[in-house]
Amino acid sequence: MSKELFPVIFVGHGSPMNAIEQNAFSDKWAEIGHQLPTPDAILCISAHWETEGTHVTISKRPRTIHDFGGFPKELFDVVYPAPGNPALANEIIELIKNKAVIPDLEWGLDHGSWSILKNMYPEANIPVLQLSMDYSLSPNAHFELAKELVRLREKKVLILCSGNIIHNLRILDWDKYNEPEYGFDWAIEVNNHLKELIDTNQIEALCNYKKLGKEVQLAIPTPEHYVPMLYALALKKETDTLTYFNDKLIMGALSMTSFIIK
Ligand code: ZN
Repeated sequence: MSKELFPVIFVGHGSPMNAIEQNAFSDKWAEIGHQLPTPDAILCISAHWETEGTHVTISKRPRTIHDFGGFPKELFDVVYPAPGNPALANEIIELIKNKAVIPDLEWGLDHGSWSILKNMYPEANIPVLQLSMDYSLSPNAHFELAKELVRLREKKVLILCSGNIIHNLRILDWDKYNEPEYGFDWAIEVNNHLKELIDTNQIEALCNYKKLGKEVQLAIPTPEHYVPMLYALALKKETDTLTYFNDKLIMGALSMTSFIIK
């Protein structure tokens, strides 16, 4: 473990129900929350916040956003009242030279953040910020921008990247929702292939995932759940170790595969 650098996490968030369901995934999030040194602040990069330009939340009290439909009232009732940290937001605006970062008072915490944080830090007493993903950027450009966040690792800021490496909702087998592990054969292969690229640091290939063949296209039909993983990788130093957790496929074409870098 790098002594001076705070860990970085990429989490496969899956269904918003993981926020309130106790299962192997949410148990693991809680365990990580207990094991990690307590951060001074958390910066989330969530699949569920794409904007024109790169935004950072700057409000003192970020609202809990219920950005989904068709789930039980219990999930809509969840409030995650973590404070913001406007001073840190301003630091991030200064820190990123690559692109202008826009302060944002409208957004709060979407379920890509709070579904995990509610399990990791149920007391909601650590300030949380979100950084959006500019939908006009290429995966390479996201990777370059993300590298500039590395200074935050020296400041006890936990960078939590939240998406799903394999995420094709249109072909999910919902009948298998309660099966602990169920992946289509091609999805298992893609998961293994992408992990191999991650383990061997093949960033070019990972950024150019559209050239990795038909199965990868099927696994990553849109970039927003995949790109947060690139943000996490961009923050990895040579001395860091990357460890997987929740490395499972569910409902055929959704990977919960996650990793911690430290
Ligand atoms: Zn999602």
